[in-house]
Amino acid sequence: MTTAADVDLIILGGGCAGLSLASALAQLGGTSPHAVILEGRQTYSHDRTWCYFKDGQAVARTDVQHAWPSMRVASGAGTIALDCGTARYEMVNAGQFYQNAQLTIGQSEQVGLKMGVLVTKPPVKQNDVWRVDTGVGTLYSRFVVDTRPAQLPHRDGAKLWQSFYGEEIQCDVAVFDVACGDLMDFAAADACGARQALPEAVCFVYVLPTTAKRALIEFTVFGPDPLPPESLHALHANAVALRLGGATFSVLRSEHGVLPMGATPPAAVGDASYVLAGLTAGGARPSSGYAFARIQRWASSCALSLATGKGPLGHAPDRLVQRLMDALFLKLVRARPDLAPDLFFALFAGTNTQSVIRFLSDRATLRDHARVVASLLPGPLLRAVLKRKRQKHGDLPLLETP
Ligand SMILES: Cc1cc2nc3c(=O)[nH]c(=O)nc-3n(C[C@H](O)[C@H](O)[C@H](O)COP(=O)(O)OP(=O)(O)OC[C@H]3O[C@@H](n4cnc5c(N)ncnc54)[C@H](O)[C@@H]3O)c2cc1C
Repeated sequence: MTTAADVDLIILGGGCAGLSLASALAQLGGTSPHAVILEGRQTYSHDRTWCYFKDGQAVARTDVQHAWPSMRVASGAGTIALDCGTARYEMVNAGQFYQNAQLTIGQSEQVGLKMGVLVTKPPVKQNDVWRVDTGVGTLYSRFVVDTRPAQLPHRDGAKLWQSFYGEEIQCDVAVFDVACGDLMDFAAADACGARQALPEAVCFVYVLPTTAKRALIEFTVFGPDPLPPESLHALHANAVALRLGGATFSVLRSEHGVLPMGATPPAAVGDASYVLAGLTAGGARPSSGYAFARIQRWASSCALSLATGKGPLGHAPDRLVQRLMDALFLKLVRARPDLAPDLFFALFAGTNTQSVIRFLSDRATLRDHARVVASLLPGPLLRAVLKRKRQKHGDLPLLETP
């Protein structure tokens, strides 16, 4: 017995990953398979911003709201301004991204978007096609790409948690330099009382100015537990007050995120016609939580694979050397958060800027990796190893190699 498929492909979830894949398919025109995205939300809003270092080879995007030629890193050890060169630090406004994706998909005869449609049951395979049950009916398709975020793992399911709370603020006077953002300001977080409030975590302030009077200011924590926004409000308010030095301001919008770092992705379904993708399925870089640029690369290759009849692709696994370095980094920060600001500062100050940007953007060569290791060895890593020897039976958590 056979069941007729309604479409070739159903994409579950129309967030960053689902819409990126659907847009890539729509741009392929008639070679795209017939696809539909099922998205639970009724409407989209400007709920987040996505930043990444631009890959000089990548096609220019039309939804970039701002690009910074220079980014600052500050800790007790000093301040360094990174000259990004061609790898500018770009920001995509999610509201604009959703709008562009809806336009692109709206012009396609092959791809459709259904809003306000919740997938209500785990899809099942029946007679070679996938049955997808939703709140408004059942659909059948040959392939499924499931981008719905997995349930967040329990406390110890991630090596580290990244929690952040940010507000986009508008000041009455000019206070920001639009040519330079703050990628990680550990010194400002310390001045806000972060070490006393969260001794087991490493905290930094992230500032993205889009005009001389407007900026997104975020307070970010890498720590052993996921944190709700309320527990970051006071630290965030201190960071804003410190940065604005008394200038009056209004809050335009806020955003909050909790990202598991180094969590084991959910197991594959075991059928090549059903793949998992997006943030919790290998989309995010374990050591940073950055996912946007990785999702764009995945979307292009998955769309091409589908258009050439090869079926959907999941996220490609990271190279071994990157996996080892990320695992070591997560263990080090978890075990010795007090050393983390020095570690980051040494990384940015001691490594050729383009090498460190390629390292952060999954594009590092072996030489870049060697440069990163060389910048860390004389500083925080060595001190951690020496301390480990001295505290063989001490009470501080010890480092282990991955
Ligand atoms: C506030 C915030 C800021 C971030 N900033 C950055 C950044 O600067 N740079 C970066 O690289 N990464 C960033 N990230 C991380 C990552 O890029 C984003 O989380 C990104 O949105 C992940 O894309 P996704 O498609 O996997 O998940 P989502 O964008 O969350 O999309 C999942 C979609 O699935 C839908 N869905 C869920 N369940 C169902 C269901 N049962 N039926 C139908 N639909 C369903 C949801 O409504 C949602 O639209 C940020 C994350 C957050 C939360």
